[in-house]
Amino acid sequence: MSIWIPIPNKFISVDQDTCIGCGNCVTICGGEVFALEQEKAVVAHIEQCLECGNCEIACPVDAIKFCVPKGGTGIVYECG
Ligand code: SF4
Ligand code: SF4
Repeated sequence: MSIWIPIPNKFISVDQDTCIGCGNCVTICGGEVFALEQEKAVVAHIEQCLECGNCEIACPVDAIKFCVPKGGTGIVYECG
């Protein structure tokens, strides 16, 4: 079970000038956060982010910047 607590600040960004449209982020993201628009990646569904950080690692040109959202925001998992 999980819920999404809205985040006031953007915690994922894609540098449109650097992105080469390879699609790695779209493929690797388990939350289906990214989409390709006119051969550039965009953050389409930030509310589905699982906060794994894989997108930043997978980008071959360092176009993605990810930082873990502040505690109490973003995705919150409930166990039990
Ligand atoms: S941090 Fe993980 S879930 Fe969030 S956008 Fe990146 S790859 Fe997707
Ligand atoms: S992995 Fe990087 S270069 Fe490739 S589409 Fe995503 S942002 Fe663009």
